[in-house]
Amino acid sequence: MIILIDIDEVLADFEAALTSEWQKLYPHTLLFPSGSRKHYYIGQDEEGNKSELVSKIIHREGFFEQLQPLPGAIDAIKLMQHYNHQIYLVTSAGVSYPNAASEKYRWVERHLGKEFLSCLVITPAKSIVRGDILIDDRPSFRDERLASWEHVLYDKSYNKTVPRKRRITWENWTDELPELLT
Ligand SMILES: [Mg+2]
Repeated sequence: MIILIDIDEVLADFEAALTSEWQKLYPHTLLFPSGSRKHYYIGQDEEGNKSELVSKIIHREGFFEQLQPLPGAIDAIKLMQHYNHQIYLVTSAGVSYPNAASEKYRWVERHLGKEFLSCLVITPAKSIVRGDILIDDRPSFRDERLASWEHVLYDKSYNKTVPRKRRITWENWTDELPELLT
């Protein structure tokens, strides 16, 4: 099978790095109520829009490159490869921060090895990438009905209300996606 996997919040712990930077800069303000992030875009919540401050942090040189892998993520990819699935990392890098693409490139090389660089697809239009499954924390995609893949949600507090999609974490994916273990 062709498995497409998102990077931010699925392989790389974007939220932890951002929260830690936020606490250093604004120790008296919560980025979002603890444990209950409800918005896919961090900083957009009922307590006021913090998007501008958030983008200042994430556009700092080195932000993407220093993200830690989420526990179990790298092992999951290795196990999928063991079962001979083709893995592609599909991520968007935006247009407002030109270094994001090269930092993601280096992140993949560091955590998955040089040979994985040929499996990195950088595009905001994930629906045009062909695959059997897309594992992504984003609640939905533009033109999703035209996509060849099934969207499997990477389970997060901010996508809990999305109905009728399978959802996984790196703790339970082998139970939820048994077809990947054949
Ligand atoms: Mg993501």
